[in-house]
Amino acid sequence: MDKKIAVIRGDGIGPEIVNQAINVLNAIAKKYNYTFTYDDVDMGGVAIDKYGEPLPQKMLDKCIKSDSVLLGAVGGPKWNSMPGELRPEKGLLKLRAGMKVYSNNRPAKIWPQLAQSSPLKADIVNKGIDFIIVRELIGGIYFGTHTTIDENNEKVAIDELKYAEHEIERIGRIGFETAQKRNHKLCSVEKSNVLDSSRLWKSVMHRLSEEYKDVELTDMLVDNCAMQIVKDPSQFDVIVTENMFGDILSDEASMITGSIGMIPSSSLGDSSCGLYEPIHGSAPDIAGKDIANPIGTILSAAMMLKYSFNMSKESDEIEKAVSNVLDKGYRCKDIMSHDDNQELKLVGCSEMGKLIVDEIISK
Ligand code: NAD
Repeated sequence: MDKKIAVIRGDGIGPEIVNQAINVLNAIAKKYNYTFTYDDVDMGGVAIDKYGEPLPQKMLDKCIKSDSVLLGAVGGPKWNSMPGELRPEKGLLKLRAGMKVYSNNRPAKIWPQLAQSSPLKADIVNKGIDFIIVRELIGGIYFGTHTTIDENNEKVAIDELKYAEHEIERIGRIGFETAQKRNHKLCSVEKSNVLDSSRLWKSVMHRLSEEYKDVELTDMLVDNCAMQIVKDPSQFDVIVTENMFGDILSDEASMITGSIGMIPSSSLGDSSCGLYEPIHGSAPDIAGKDIANPIGTILSAAMMLKYSFNMSKESDEIEKAVSNVLDKGYRCKDIMSHDDNQELKLVGCSEMGKLIVDEIISK
């Protein structure tokens, strides 16, 4: 099987972590006689430096024409003073919109080997953490108009939050269908006590629930959800929510599982061409030091195999390899903790990647 993967290494730790994910994909390709070819795409700060914009159209076209896109991360202090339209993160928004990937799916799952890394109390962690946040990705306040005007001798900033019924319906369906593949529980998160867009959100979810009788739908206000995620995360199976709420809640959810460096994500629309990336940013504070954790990116590549290339077995094999390496006590700095039962070994980004590749090859 031949697959063409657009690769956006990006900025900061992006190149380091993506290189490890590519090594893992190559190990799978070699083992199963697949051909993965990689098409380099410049996006973010690196594209601003080269072309004066964060995602030139020809780079976006490469992504749209690929079988899927693997992304590291973009951004960094060097570009922080750029005007809004020229910020590296604008490239990310343009990419998501250009690829029409409206559904971002982030698993929040605790690895048993890393239970001690969770900031939550053991009795909460031991009840189990295993849910998915399905976040609307190309609508809402991030995609509304942003204006700053002068009014009564001061600046006034306005950000537009707009959702159409069809945008809510298509992400709602992903939420229900994801719940159908899991434990049949869907929690719709909004702020319907204040926002019109949330009241529309809630009404669409309830209309849809008539079509998904096997899924138990509950509603939760976003402020309550932020509390419940730390108080009793075991109650959740699938959370579906709008863009900004999902952005914030999914970072919170990632922290309770141990480290932001462990969590992958997929973004999908109506085609099989998806965008796969770890949930963290470009971590400029640790870039170039070979200490970043590549596992979130490696697991993103595993999600790509499962959700875009229909290679579930190979995807599971990568997850198993990660689990085995953790079982053997290897840890990157962000997931290093004390374990009374085992001596843990600190490894860097490239060594962690190599250990996972070796696991895949040896099995
Ligand atoms: P960040 O996620 O880059 O870093 C937050 C903290 O987590 C830092 O201490 C960092 O060292 C650590 N961290 C992140 N990934 C890690 C990994 N794989 N291994 C070990 N530690 C890791 O968030 P930030 O500092 O707020 O943002 C830095 C830059 O990244 C900003 O320019 C921001 O706009 C950008 N950003 C990009 C994306 C993206 O490309 N998808 C997402 C979020 C932030």
